[in-house]
Amino acid sequence: MKRVYNFSAGPAVLPEEVLKEAADEMLDYKGSGMSVMEMSHRSKVYDNIIKEAEADLRELMNIPDNYKVLFLQGGASQFFAEVPMNMMKNKKAGYIVTGQWAKKAYQEAKIYGEAVELASSADKTFSYIPDCSDLPITDDMDYVYICENNTIYGTKYKTLPNTKGKDLVADVSSCFLSEPVDVSKYAVIYGGVQKNVGPAGCVIAIIRDDLITDDVLPGTPTMLKWKTQADADSLYNTPPCYTIYICGKVFKWLKKMGGLEAMKALNEKKAKILYDYLDESSLFKGTVEKESRSLMNVPFVTGNEELDAKFVKEAKEAGFENLKGHRTVGGMRASIYNAMPIEGVEALVEFMKKFEKENA
Ligand SMILES: *Cc1c(COP(=O)(O)O)cnc(C)c1O
Repeated sequence: MKRVYNFSAGPAVLPEEVLKEAADEMLDYKGSGMSVMEMSHRSKVYDNIIKEAEADLRELMNIPDNYKVLFLQGGASQFFAEVPMNMMKNKKAGYIVTGQWAKKAYQEAKIYGEAVELASSADKTFSYIPDCSDLPITDDMDYVYICENNTIYGTKYKTLPNTKGKDLVADVSSCFLSEPVDVSKYAVIYGGVQKNVGPAGCVIAIIRDDLITDDVLPGTPTMLKWKTQADADSLYNTPPCYTIYICGKVFKWLKKMGGLEAMKALNEKKAKILYDYLDESSLFKGTVEKESRSLMNVPFVTGNEELDAKFVKEAKEAGFENLKGHRTVGGMRASIYNAMPIEGVEALVEFMKKFEKENA
C-alpha cells in the first residue's frame, strides 16, 4: 500500500488515523456486530455516535447554548437556497461576492428575493478580499452573506465585515475547524464537510436559535425548513449516518491534536513554508494579494501554461496528487487542509525547488 500526498480541494485528505480506526471498526462497530453503515439511525448505538459528534464539535468551537448544530444533506449548494428560504423576511439581503461560491449563493438568493451585491473582487479575478468596513447595507436587509474562505481563488477574510448590526451568514466549507472562531459574531455558520472535516454527504450548520422558526418563505420544502431539522435533532429522516460518524472521529482527532488553537498554529506554519517559497521563487508565483491569503488553499502559476501542465504531470509522478488548479482558473492549487501533514508541504516545496532548477 502506498499513500500519496493528496492536495485535492475536496473531497480531500483525511487523517490517516481516522481512516485506520474506521477500517478497524468496519465489520463490527464496538460489539454491535455490524458496520455503522448497516445500523438504524434510530438505534441507541447510532444515537450515541451523533450525540457525541455534536458534543465534541460544540467543545471544539466553543459553541454557545443558543446555537443549534444541524447535520444536513444537499451539500453547501443546497444551503445557498436554504438561507433565503429561512431568513428572508423582508425579501432583501446583502451579498459580498468574492468568488464562484459566493456568486452562486448570490444568484440563488435572487430566486427568492432581492439580493444586493454589497462588494465584489471580480475586477481582479477574485484575488483579494474587498474592504468591508463601510458597505452599503440598508436597514431592510435580512442578513449579510459571505464566503469566508474562497476555495477556488485562495482568499480568506482576515476580519469579518462590518454588517452594521445585521446578521452575518458565512459559508466556511473550506476553512471549517482550521482555526478558532467566535461563533457569537455569526448568525449562521455552515459548510460542506468534504473539504476540511469528513467525507462528502453532509453539511454542518450552526444556527442561532431565534432564526429557527415556522416563519419561512411560502413553498419552502419541509426538509429545507431549519425548524424541521432542529426539532428532530437532525434525525427528521435518515441522515448521512456514515459521514457523520467519520466527522465525529475527526472531531476527536482534532481534540487530540490540541484543539483549534493548535490547528491554527500548525496551519500557519504549513502555509508559511509554501508562501515563503512562492515569494522567493523566480519560477512560481502566488496569485493572491498577501493580506488576503488563505491558509487552506494556495493557488500559484508559472506564467506559462505548458510549464504548468508539465509541473502537474511530473508532480503526480512523484506522488503529489491533485495539484491542478480549478478548471476556471488554471495554473496550480495546493489545498493544505488540517489533515495534510507538514511533511507533505515540505516535500512539495522541495519538489518545486527541484523543478525550478531543472526548468530555469
Ligand atoms: C466546495 C464548496 C461549495 C460547494 O459544496 P457542495 O457541497 O459541493 O455543494 C460551496 N462553498 C465553498 C466555499 C466550497 O468550497
